[in-house]
Amino acid sequence: MSPPPAKPGVWGRLAELRGPAVPPKALDARALAALAANPGCERRALLDGAGVDKAGLAEGLGSPASFGQSQFAFMRGNAFEARVKADGGAELLRLVHENLDPGAEPPRAGTVPDLTAAGPEGRTARTALALRDACAAGVWTLLDHPMLALDVAGSPAFLEPDAVVVHPDGTWTVVEIKSFPLLDGSADPAKVGAAARQSAVYVLALEEVAARLDPVPDVRHRVLLVCPKDFSNLPTASAVDVRKQRAVTRRQLDRLTRVEDIAAALPEGTCFAPGLPADRLTAAVDAVPAAYAPECLAACELAFHCRARSREEGAVTSLGRSLRAELGGLTTVDDVLAAARGDAGDPADPAVAALRRAALLRAEALRGREPAHPTGQAALPEVAPCR
Ligand code: SF4
Repeated sequence: MSPPPAKPGVWGRLAELRGPAVPPKALDARALAALAANPGCERRALLDGAGVDKAGLAEGLGSPASFGQSQFAFMRGNAFEARVKADGGAELLRLVHENLDPGAEPPRAGTVPDLTAAGPEGRTARTALALRDACAAGVWTLLDHPMLALDVAGSPAFLEPDAVVVHPDGTWTVVEIKSFPLLDGSADPAKVGAAARQSAVYVLALEEVAARLDPVPDVRHRVLLVCPKDFSNLPTASAVDVRKQRAVTRRQLDRLTRVEDIAAALPEGTCFAPGLPADRLTAAVDAVPAAYAPECLAACELAFHCRARSREEGAVTSLGRSLRAELGGLTTVDDVLAAARGDAGDPADPAVAALRRAALLRAEALRGREPAHPTGQAALPEVAPCR
């Protein structure tokens, strides 16, 4: 009797999930940062860990993603970045000195090493050498689009920050250049948050490079965010502390090794290959637990599919994370309405008590304008509106 066929290892299993001959999609800093923004979502962790092309998958599901940068915004961003880095990065180094290291000698003519090399591995090695040399030189050094590698569940993810600055004392700073404006010194918190999460990924990657040097240089946890000032094209900057985002991303990346466990729980034959019929893809995606929140709309290609599923299930997560947290054990809109009516729920539960109080106040406000519920409370709508 011939032995049973050998079970594929974790990488073989992930390749099966991707589909035969489908190359893995490389993780970039934006994807890693988005992963950290929704750490509870097993669906995203599995799809990213397996290198599934989520945009292609969303197309196959019939719910294509709609976010992304317009060509105009892309070109405007590139023009702004070129302006910030003009003259050997003189303005950029001035902003780093002013915002992060005013005690150091002011930068005069910074060094900008050549980082060109063949392939991402070659560029990563070239960047590591340039960082080591800059530490030894002890002068302001600007690394323009360096290449960094971060170990993600055993495979390298290649990352390209806008810039890394080496200070005269040998410490390293990540610089993110964005085209959204800083108005009176502050910017859209959601955009700043996304930039901070992205920068935290670069900080982690730089720490891996630093750990291989002796002595180990310090990677600063305050990064520099450079944006246009007000409605002009003049650069201005703000220091952003990314310690929290760094810790969350580190935890989330460590959890990615659990991708193996998530994959093991899936039915035999589950596959996310683009080109499979929509019903097969839907069944495959629905087999992996998700944690939808409205924030997914700006960060994940599967957002429209997951939102539709969340609404079908009446899940309160589709109404936002803060509301979800306040509702405790009440996870569906039906549960919430039943608790508010007094049909279900433990009156000692603070969420249930608050809902009944709110229903009572509403009934009092509407008394005489709406027929009363048989329990004496105001009639509640059968279906609550979802976002
Ligand atoms: S859109 Fe879906 S898969 Fe993506 S993070 Fe949100 S819940 Fe997870």
